[in-house]
Amino acid sequence: MKLTDAVVADRFARVRSRMAETGMDALLLSTGADLPWLTGYEAMPLERLTMLVVPAEGDAVLVIPRLEAPRVVEHSSFGLAPWDETDDPIALVADLLGQPNNVSVETVPSAETVAAIGDHTWGRFVVELLVACPGLALRRGVEVTGPLRMVKDAAEIAALRRAAAAVDVIAVGLRDERFSGRTEAELSRVIVERMLAAGHERANFSIVATGPNGASPHHDPTDRVIEPGDVVLCDFGGTMDGYCSDITRMFVVGEPGREVSAEVRDVYAVLVAAQEAGVQAGVPGAPCEVVDAATRAVIAEGGYGEYFVHRTGHGIGTEEHEDPYMVAGNELPLAPWYAYSVEPGIYLPGRFGMRLEDIVVCTPEGPERLTNAPRDLAVVR
Ligand code: ZN
Ligand code: ZN
Ligand code: ZN
Repeated sequence: MKLTDAVVADRFARVRSRMAETGMDALLLSTGADLPWLTGYEAMPLERLTMLVVPAEGDAVLVIPRLEAPRVVEHSSFGLAPWDETDDPIALVADLLGQPNNVSVETVPSAETVAAIGDHTWGRFVVELLVACPGLALRRGVEVTGPLRMVKDAAEIAALRRAAAAVDVIAVGLRDERFSGRTEAELSRVIVERMLAAGHERANFSIVATGPNGASPHHDPTDRVIEPGDVVLCDFGGTMDGYCSDITRMFVVGEPGREVSAEVRDVYAVLVAAQEAGVQAGVPGAPCEVVDAATRAVIAEGGYGEYFVHRTGHGIGTEEHEDPYMVAGNELPLAPWYAYSVEPGIYLPGRFGMRLEDIVVCTPEGPERLTNAPRDLAVVR
């Protein structure tokens, strides 16, 4: 991900002030989305340790395998500490934390160092650090980065907008696609190829769930052949310039001489109304759970409450699912420049399932959808 020096400096400043607020002596970032968000560099998810050490006072240092170092775009906000194959990177991190390394159990550990460690750090490194640093107390990295990453800056909103526009075009294109006679897996691959062709560097998922398979919200596409009359759920997203797209649209395969069934139409009308209510509920200051309650109320009113089996939405940014979550019990008030999905669903076991999903940004003026492909039930061939 390409970040300017100014953006990196701004994010480091926000990280350091949040560390002070939460009482962290250090922040440790390895694999996962926090490191690329902060530095533009994504750690290889390998057995060799990559770890950014941000002390409360002093310079931040990226401990990195020497062979990976050439891929780092350097910024003035952090230095590099490349390690060789025979070095002990855990000892390097312990040093940077001011921890006496490998003290014996009898040695009284130095005053406790409280460090936040990235949520997606490999368990082995967490364990090795704790063994090497008896004076180290760990907390979750999200305590520092979560509230910062939720508020998207202008460049991030622009990136999310570009990613959303790219999947919008694909969703529109699917309306002209032949579904009948093809398999779920085949259509899923078509969508993956189109995401890559549209500029995504990776496709994160491409769910094509047809007929009864649609009742499983995260169905893995199979070799089931799509038939006339099938209800088809397409939910897909990827990563473009480091930021994620995510959209769900619904299709029904037309049958010669037959209308789409009244039940399918009815379920879908309830879903569209529920999704709209959820989107409109997303005003600054409203607790996240209100967005969930808004979609749920419409679906319950329509008589399908028991078939809406998941939360309404998730935050989105450098990760396809991140804070904040639109779920009952989340009292966090929405704030300007949070980005999240609103994706209620109705799943009728053994019959069909439906979901409608858009990415929404909470602006000072209220909610704005980033995905805008038509939301009607598209009748396809
Ligand atoms: Zn999902
Ligand atoms: Zn989705
Ligand atoms: Zn989603």
